[in-house]
Amino acid sequence: MKAATKFIHAGTEPDPSTGAIMTPIYQTSTYVQSAPGKNQGYEYARSQNPTRKALEEALAVIENGAYGLAFSSGVAATDAVIKLLQPGDEVIAANDMYGGTYRLFTKIFEKFGIGFRYVDTTNVQNIEKAITPKTKLVWLETPTNPLMNITDIAAVAAITKPKKIWLAVDNTFASPYLQNPLDLGADIVMHSSTKYLGGHSDVIQGALIMNDSLLREQLYFIQKSCGAVPGPMDCFLVLRGIKTLHVRMKAHCENGKTIAHWLRKHPKVGKVYWPGFEDHPGYAVAKKQMRDFGGMLSFTLKDDAVDNAMRVLSSTHLFSLAESLGGVESLINHPASMTHASIPREERIKNGLGDSLIRLSIGIEDADDLIADLQHAIG
Ligand SMILES: *Cc1c(COP(=O)(O)O)cnc(C)c1O
Repeated sequence: MKAATKFIHAGTEPDPSTGAIMTPIYQTSTYVQSAPGKNQGYEYARSQNPTRKALEEALAVIENGAYGLAFSSGVAATDAVIKLLQPGDEVIAANDMYGGTYRLFTKIFEKFGIGFRYVDTTNVQNIEKAITPKTKLVWLETPTNPLMNITDIAAVAAITKPKKIWLAVDNTFASPYLQNPLDLGADIVMHSSTKYLGGHSDVIQGALIMNDSLLREQLYFIQKSCGAVPGPMDCFLVLRGIKTLHVRMKAHCENGKTIAHWLRKHPKVGKVYWPGFEDHPGYAVAKKQMRDFGGMLSFTLKDDAVDNAMRVLSSTHLFSLAESLGGVESLINHPASMTHASIPREERIKNGLGDSLIRLSIGIEDADDLIADLQHAIG
């Protein structure tokens, strides 16, 4: 089935009790049993909910996976993956990733005795070198937030598979429209559904997708035991978002490309981070594993004084100054003080994330209007 058909029909069956074409919002905490232990497959809504079930089936379909699980946020989905591990186990993670993931690993899980090694995963040899007998999981993000670094998922899977190390990929930036890590050998795909899957900046949610039934059992057990499940209304919103994912992503990619090229020609702009440039170090891999280059980009100004970046950040009108990404409306962000403030400054600078970096989530408004807004702000 082609993407457009898949995204619209994934997980959606007419409601068996009424024929409603859209999955109803089953706003209930429990289900009446006809006799003790006799139920229709639903006992208590932390464990099962029909709206969530429809969404979880949709998540599996759109990532070419066998199973999907929905969580109350992206970080709750990541949290569930790390809970597969035991004290003493080690994780190899990217040194340039979402600040909240780094915070979860260092501030929450390290104290439970799980070890994390951060490496530059764009060179897969760094992963190979960091593996020890204790390594149980490799955690990747590609493209990364906010520097748009690219890691070769298939090359990493070729290292982890024979060693029976799980490979998990945060696929939030690409979305399933552009990249499907399970097809490239990953064991688990993670999404902040808050971003492109929801697509309208009106919900917080996370997702995991996998092929292995044992892994699904373990993660489902964690989901119901720890309880970070999304409510049925939020599941409905993400199900609805998925129906237009392909149309929105096409527009995000088109606008992203137009604005990346425009910024690059602007005399006051320094470096533009966008994986669609042929001289981007990850271009060849991005071209191989992604269908297009997405709507996220970052840039610096030639005069990279922090004040200068701050002036641009507070001068746009269409681009709203806010955290998050992946909605239909454009956002502008200052990673150093906003999304990535939880990463210590020295660590940030060491990994190339400077104080004057500006990140854009390009929405699907008219590109001419977005350019006029940036032109006005950059001056
Ligand atoms: C937002 C984000 C997360 C965290 O997801 P929440 O839904 O905010 O919990 C994880 N990874 C990436 C790449 C993100 O952008």
